[in-house]
Amino acid sequence: MFVTVVGGLATLCSSFALLPQILRARRDGGRGLSYGMLGLYLAGTLLWLTYGLDTGATAVAVANVIATTLVSILIVIKAMGTKARAEAPRKLRIAIDMDETIVDILPKHLRLYNEAFGENLTIADLGQKELEHFVPKDRAEATERMILDRSFFRDLPFLPEARETVKALAERHEVFIATAAMDVPTSFDAKYAWLREQMPFIPTSHIIFCGDKGALDMDVLIDDRARHFARFRGKGLLFDAPHNRDEKRYARVKDWAEVRRLLLDPEPAEAPGFLQTKTVVLETAARQ
Ligand SMILES: [Mg+2]
Repeated sequence: MFVTVVGGLATLCSSFALLPQILRARRDGGRGLSYGMLGLYLAGTLLWLTYGLDTGATAVAVANVIATTLVSILIVIKAMGTKARAEAPRKLRIAIDMDETIVDILPKHLRLYNEAFGENLTIADLGQKELEHFVPKDRAEATERMILDRSFFRDLPFLPEARETVKALAERHEVFIATAAMDVPTSFDAKYAWLREQMPFIPTSHIIFCGDKGALDMDVLIDDRARHFARFRGKGLLFDAPHNRDEKRYARVKDWAEVRRLLLDPEPAEAPGFLQTKTVVLETAARQ
């Protein structure tokens, strides 16, 4: 009697051992299972089934009919999951900076400076210098303080083609707005309000107020500040600005039309260097 009970329990356990794995594979498509293990398991159950039938061991035969059925189901689930992943469009995870990449802050900053000090400075006057570094030293602090006011960020305009290109990118890829807001902590609410109002197609889960963008786990970072690429593990694309013209270490995009050609158009019509960059980006971005 005892032997029969033990044998019966053993048969039940080994027969249905794959059931929890089937439930899990239905969720993840069998991503963690190897075909090698599944093939050997199937061969084993078929051999035991043959043994059970040949020797008249009914319990062994029944147990392995069940096990063979379950491992076959697992193989089918894994094959379907692999096919679905292969057919799914590859999406890049793209982080995009805000100031001087999406929004144009210099004209407003320059206007405030000119109003405050009775000057008539133009963007051309600055050359490759930032406004804070161009002005006389005794005005630098006041000039910097102008963008610390929370209202500064409330009504900034887009750079040309920024909004429509980011929207198109967000429809094709996974786009995050990553702004080093820690540089200007008073800007949090104004920047958030601007993003919600001007770019409602970016969900709040994809807005990142951060410090060092090297912490971001993204395939691409588009930013006008090269310092953020130093520890960034994806592909940095330096968004052209007068203050970064001397930076030669990173691939440069001169405007949003070029970003569109690089990341949205299948065959960039120009800039062979960026065509190569695109290949690198897409190859390293194979996330399923
Ligand atoms: Mg910036």
